[in-house]
Amino acid sequence: MMSSDIERVTFSEEQIRMRVQELGAQIARDYRDAAETVYCVGILKGAAVFFTDLVRAIDRPVAFDFMIVSSYGDAAVSSGQVKILKDLDFPIEGKHVIIVEDIIDSGTTMHYLKQMLMGRHPKSIRICAFLSKPSRRVAPVEIDYLGHEVPDEFLVGYGLDYAEKYRNLPYIGVLRRSVYE
Ligand code: 5GP
Ligand code: MG
Ligand code: MG
Repeated sequence: MMSSDIERVTFSEEQIRMRVQELGAQIARDYRDAAETVYCVGILKGAAVFFTDLVRAIDRPVAFDFMIVSSYGDAAVSSGQVKILKDLDFPIEGKHVIIVEDIIDSGTTMHYLKQMLMGRHPKSIRICAFLSKPSRRVAPVEIDYLGHEVPDEFLVGYGLDYAEKYRNLPYIGVLRRSVYE
């Protein structure tokens, strides 16, 4: 069950489940009276697992869309480059948009994405991230819905990968340095 490449579990499956339920309830409450469609935009691939749990915890209709952006590749450090590999399928003008992200690190990706999507004139745009590393921030990002703040350690599991591995771990843990050094 516990991968030997994991040094320590940061958030157990149960801890994740409880926090996701709280975030979903908070989002449902905040958009209770919204007449316009609420678009949950998952940032693939990292947010895929969080996204599917989160949307099921939001007790109101939402529409799905996904984007693929690249900033990291297989490296454990950000290149600072943001490239759109897959754009939204739907126009978001006049809609409520919630960007759903796995983790915000330097903030480069989210800062860029939010600016870009704001240019399409949505009715509102908010950011929901399961994790954030505030000590690593380079670009300013306001996170409207946050699961947990974490220190500067390389995490995997619950969608987070290292070289495409570990995404399917049901918990979040610190990857042993020996795996990538
Ligand atoms: P940012 O643009 O904020 O620096 O990068 C955000 C992206 O970097 C995240 O969506 C994620 O893909 C990747 N990332 C940042 N920190 C970690 C981490 O601790 N573990 C993993 N696996 N990916 C991370
Ligand atoms: Mg991501
Ligand atoms: Mg990655």
